[in-house]
Amino acid sequence: MKIKAAVVEKQNADFEIKDVDLAELGADDIQVHMVASGICHSDEALRIGDAVIDYPIVLGHEGSGIVEKVGPEVTQFQPGDHVVLSFYACGNCKSCLKGIPTQCENYAANNLSGVRPDGSAHFTENGKKVADMFDQSSFTSTTIVRERNAVKVDKDLDLRKLGPLGCGYVTGSGTVLNTLKPKPGDTIAVFGTGAVGLAAMMAGRISGCTKVIGIDIVDSRLDLAKELGATDVINSKGIDVVKAVKDLTGGYGVDWAVDTTGVTKVMEDSIGVLAQGGTTATIAVTPNHIDLDTWNDLCVEDKKVVGVNMGDSIPQVDIPRLIEFYKLGMFDFDKTEKFYKFSEINEANADSRSGKTIKPVLIIDDSYEPGK
Ligand SMILES: [Zn+2]
Ligand SMILES: [Zn+2]
Repeated sequence: MKIKAAVVEKQNADFEIKDVDLAELGADDIQVHMVASGICHSDEALRIGDAVIDYPIVLGHEGSGIVEKVGPEVTQFQPGDHVVLSFYACGNCKSCLKGIPTQCENYAANNLSGVRPDGSAHFTENGKKVADMFDQSSFTSTTIVRERNAVKVDKDLDLRKLGPLGCGYVTGSGTVLNTLKPKPGDTIAVFGTGAVGLAAMMAGRISGCTKVIGIDIVDSRLDLAKELGATDVINSKGIDVVKAVKDLTGGYGVDWAVDTTGVTKVMEDSIGVLAQGGTTATIAVTPNHIDLDTWNDLCVEDKKVVGVNMGDSIPQVDIPRLIEFYKLGMFDFDKTEKFYKFSEINEANADSRSGKTIKPVLIIDDSYEPGK
């Protein structure tokens, strides 16, 4: 069937909304009418070539929509269900069977190969393959995904807001709730106030951290960080941020840190701000590297540097949990969002790049009414 999709024809090209052909529905696929999609920094990394799948490509991996059709082997969904889409894990490899789908042995093949898990094209244009992302590609009017990409959500929620739970918010919060697991009374510093960083700060607060230090170079974003859960904020422009964090923590440094910026100096500072025995998680999609002082930092001071994929999340467990925190007023993720029309995708992406908008959300079906 023909659908509308925002296609990136080649590296650095703008998004262009055009008609493409969607693959046939497979036995364990669900067909989803897209209502909205967040734009994530990973989409931009793939558009500009900081990371590459293939071109032309249909990006988007923070989709929310309504199930239209299901294949004959689908057991968990039916037409009319509201869903948030996330990554795909095979369900059968050792990591998936251990309950760690973010470490699926087939993760890259399933999500970052540009084709469906069986190797077929998700989209074609005039018979030629157009690559997909996360076996999802939510910058579309309709897509097909596997059951395991989808998470059912209540119909009384505003579906337009929920797509970013599938990547940015689950990544930031999961890094804290699933990976670092601070204890009540611990301290945490989060570098960067994008959607991922703000989600990490809210999760720090949910975990009972008594110091949640938000660090950025834009005052207006630090104000939002304070509103959402940071107990303290630091504008790090031109100052010694390691000293500033130590000053806020009685000279010790923090137990936990998260870097969402991917900037070399900032990733190094995220180690510098740690107390002895502390752990930093570096989670940005970045081509940058860091120098590790393995003797002083890792051996003598017993600091740890960890990588985390997608917040070590299980979307079907973590997204409903985040929605419950949202209902309690403890995870106000929607305060980071701004809605744009699907046709404004290039403007929305530019606003994300410039920092004007923290989390742009494209409204793909503007006839959708929340709660109906
Ligand atoms: Zn697997
Ligand atoms: Zn993402």
